Amino acid sequence: MRYRFSVYYPQRQKYKHNKGKYVHRDIAERKILFRKLRKNEIVHHIDHDCRNNDPDNLCVMKYQDHINLHKIMDRCIKRCLLTGS
Ligand SMILES: [Zn+2]
Repeated sequence: MRYRFSVYYPQRQKYKHNKGKYVHRDIAERKILFRKLRKNEIVHHIDHDCRNNDPDNLCVMKYQDHINLHKIMDRCIKRCLLTGS
């Protein structure tokens, strides 16, 4: 099942492009990894703002780890919204 960012992105945010390439991926390759992203790597925005492409706000993760991270965060946010704790 494909994971959706329903909790964190109630209004769909758009990633910035530069000549057809995602800016956050380009920055991760040039300023964090100093190599190309591998097929199974994803660039996560730590503050969940897709437009904040500061290298300090980007984290390179394996695809499955990224899905798991968002699942955990979704659970925490939903619990917080439902119970206030
Ligand atoms: Zn993410």
